[in-house]
Amino acid sequence: MKITIAGVGAMGGRYALMLSRAGNDVDGIDGWADNVNAINEHGLQANFDGEQVVAKIKAYEQTKIDPSAVADLVILFPKSMQLDGMMQSLKPVITDHTKILCLMNGIGHEEIIEKYVTRDNIFIGNTMWTAGMEGPGKLKLFGSGSVALRNVEDGEAATAAAKKIVKLLSDAGLNAEYSDNILYTIYKKATVNGTMNGLCTILDCNMSEFGSTSTAEDMVVAIVKEFSAVAAKEGIDLNVPDTVDYIKTTWDPNTIGHHYPSMHQDLITNHRLTEIDYINGVIDRRGKKYGIPTPYCTFLTQLVHAKEQLLHAK
Ligand code: NAD
Repeated sequence: MKITIAGVGAMGGRYALMLSRAGNDVDGIDGWADNVNAINEHGLQANFDGEQVVAKIKAYEQTKIDPSAVADLVILFPKSMQLDGMMQSLKPVITDHTKILCLMNGIGHEEIIEKYVTRDNIFIGNTMWTAGMEGPGKLKLFGSGSVALRNVEDGEAATAAAKKIVKLLSDAGLNAEYSDNILYTIYKKATVNGTMNGLCTILDCNMSEFGSTSTAEDMVVAIVKEFSAVAAKEGIDLNVPDTVDYIKTTWDPNTIGHHYPSMHQDLITNHRLTEIDYINGVIDRRGKKYGIPTPYCTFLTQLVHAKEQLLHAK
């Protein structure tokens, strides 16, 4: 099976490396020329749980894709705001049989993907792995994780295809499972991102510092209520107290509390644009559509965009 990783950044790099090391035929497609050149010259290099490893994969620049690189499975890992452009670029490698798997953070990516492929070929989920980059072609991969996914369209063939992808990922050590309730899982993770990412970025603090403030819980509860009200309109039961408790586990300084969320690293450290429009911004847009007030998500989205502009983020 030919696998194409679309967006060979930190997480796409992890999937490319682990799938390639498991013996799969893996190509990468990426918009960052220096990254593509480094991968083709030196392989995809990684500090993989303390061991230096290299995976020899072929990488293509997004604008220079060789049509012979037709894929059986495309795994999408650009940033959310790069997704539409990436789907455009992928046209030469997608056939009627190509399966598209999206494990990116955020809500509603299938609405962009289905402009380009039929819904029976779309699979969505989320990944609890983490990944970092040290430079072009260089990854820093620590710890373990898991993946949950499902077919977007119901039906025997799509379910069987999803389970085949689950096996492929698990055989590569990615610890995947089929989830019947994937929209709930996606919403729950988006709610963690929709609180910790934007708030720690605007307040310039780590998760433990945020949790130590007297207003932290009230802000989290208010945001989770908005996610929950929008989710309920879509038939998803996102319980507010349970979700708040789940988010509060990220504040523990003895586990991950000292980490800065990825949005903080992207915007405050590296002056890169954020995925806020696909996290809190989705709740703002869907809230307007459903007639649900979402003032906290709307305001947080505006604050993050203002910060992007002040820092001239690209
Ligand atoms: P990333 O920023 O590392 O990579 C995304 C794209 O940006 C890639 O095409 C990459 O080549 C490019 N890029 C990276 N650094 C660049 C630079 N300095 N200049 C120009 N281009 C650059 O993003 P990611 O962390 O791999 O995230 C991809 C998706 O996975 C997102 O939706 C993210 O939310 C999700 N995700 C990431 C993690 C994680 O731990 N990294 C965890 C869960 C979900």
